[in-house]
Amino acid sequence: RTVYVNGEYLPEEEARVSVFDRGFLFADGVYEVTSVLDGRLIDFPGHAERLSRSLRELEMESPVTDEQLLDIHRELVRVNGIEEGMVYLQVTRGVADRDFAWGAEGEPTIVLFTQSKPGLADNPKAREGMKVISIADRRWGRRDIKTVQLLYPSMAKMAARKAGADDAWMVEDGFVTEGTSNNAYIVTGGRIVTRHLGEEILHGITRAAVLRVARDLQMEVEERPFTLEEARAADEAFVTSASTFVMPVVEIDGASVGEGRPGPVAARLREVYLDEMRAAAI
Ligand code: PMP
Repeated sequence: RTVYVNGEYLPEEEARVSVFDRGFLFADGVYEVTSVLDGRLIDFPGHAERLSRSLRELEMESPVTDEQLLDIHRELVRVNGIEEGMVYLQVTRGVADRDFAWGAEGEPTIVLFTQSKPGLADNPKAREGMKVISIADRRWGRRDIKTVQLLYPSMAKMAARKAGADDAWMVEDGFVTEGTSNNAYIVTGGRIVTRHLGEEILHGITRAAVLRVARDLQMEVEERPFTLEEARAADEAFVTSASTFVMPVVEIDGASVGEGRPGPVAARLREVYLDEMRAAAI
């Protein structure tokens, strides 16, 4: 595969990043994942905008313009022949002698690569539904910044796998924050309920699009925290992310949600979201 590192397209074997890179030493960096369907990028403007926000919040410079970023994404999709899959992008503060404090000495590091994932849209999991476990949310306090500091969510996901589940819903002060790499929703009392935006969760690009779709379909949306108890008693549960789109959740901590099958709200949102996003893909 061809990857992109600091201005160059290289075979992956030849790509190099310094051992002194602050992304490696301090997780001092941010990332984005953009899906590819039919060889085109899904919601690129949303991801580019969030990247700018993450960089700004960490007082980091963007090494490229949005136009350059789009060109790099497209070029990698083209040379790697990606029909369905994703483009991963990471920007770190750069390379410096190891010191907690950054002295603004160098250029940011930018890396992009692709992953081919056939069956991303026609995913059997969307028909079966996911099982989740609950786990305490022990991440840092600025989860709205998409940093590469992913140790806790990785541990949580591994705990889920060990328990025979697909993912974990994280809980803080009695309320669900989000999944390890997705935003969490329930359908209860005829409404779609999902946690409001704040520093406690990532502002999902898919979340924004799916809520827009839901409102267009005259579905009622309530942005507020919900408890696990409420989720277990809900008619439906689901998650959203750039790589899973809308994915039903049918089990929480071993107990069925609703009928224990994917529900109509999640199915409809997935269908309309995919149709609209495919039509707008670039
Ligand atoms: N929350 C977390 C913690 C995530 O890691 C992700 C995916 N990166 C999401 C939510 C979903 O965000 P998006 O829809 O932008 O992929």
